[in-house]
Amino acid sequence: MPSRETKSGNPRPADKGAAKAKRNAAIRRCYRQESVRDRIRAFFLDNIGKVATREQIQKVAADPKTRRIPENWHQRLSELRTDEGYTILSWRNRGDLKVSEYLMPNADKRATAAKRLKIHHEIWLKVLERAGYRCEWREGNVACGLKSGDIDPIGGGTVKLTPDHKRPHAVDPAADPKAPDAWQALCGRHQVVKKNYWDHTTGWLNVYAIVQAASEAEKRQVYEFLKSYFGDAK
Ligand SMILES: [Zn+2]
Repeated sequence: MPSRETKSGNPRPADKGAAKAKRNAAIRRCYRQESVRDRIRAFFLDNIGKVATREQIQKVAADPKTRRIPENWHQRLSELRTDEGYTILSWRNRGDLKVSEYLMPNADKRATAAKRLKIHHEIWLKVLERAGYRCEWREGNVACGLKSGDIDPIGGGTVKLTPDHKRPHAVDPAADPKAPDAWQALCGRHQVVKKNYWDHTTGWLNVYAIVQAASEAEKRQVYEFLKSYFGDAK
């Protein structure tokens, strides 16, 4: 980029470039770690405090040999937050981030995040049987119903059902891992939605994420409520 003096006092292109380099993450090495999650984690740890884009994450998440971008990269990114306790901010948390920009502000891990309940295999089989081998997530009155091996028409990729403990550990630490009713079968997309709904460390609901995922009709209802709450109703 040519760098020319300007008399107007606007930053010169070279200064703009420097500001960009200060803000933005960069891929400075090859990520050859075994798993997708390992590669994404290493990339973020190399770029603490810098803004990473969706394209960069997809690039480092790609298989080092085939260069194929994994369809579930977003879920692996989400696990760094929920399972490992890292803070990764997005536009939902920070106004200066754009959609599909992410930032790890520091390398700290929340200690409680690692503690997760594991289901017993025989209980999981019971849950699957009850679920009819379908995702049990319900949106209003509509069940997701995706079956293992189906192609997810919204998220893309092959559906794999995994167990979800309905009440977060932080809310209900004494929960019985052997009670089938405490568990549900969820597809990968709804595991992510569920994780976005609950902050597992505080047990608080993430109201914003819930409204975002709500149907048009539910959003309209919330909108009307907020209008009257803030006195904006006509
Ligand atoms: Zn589902």
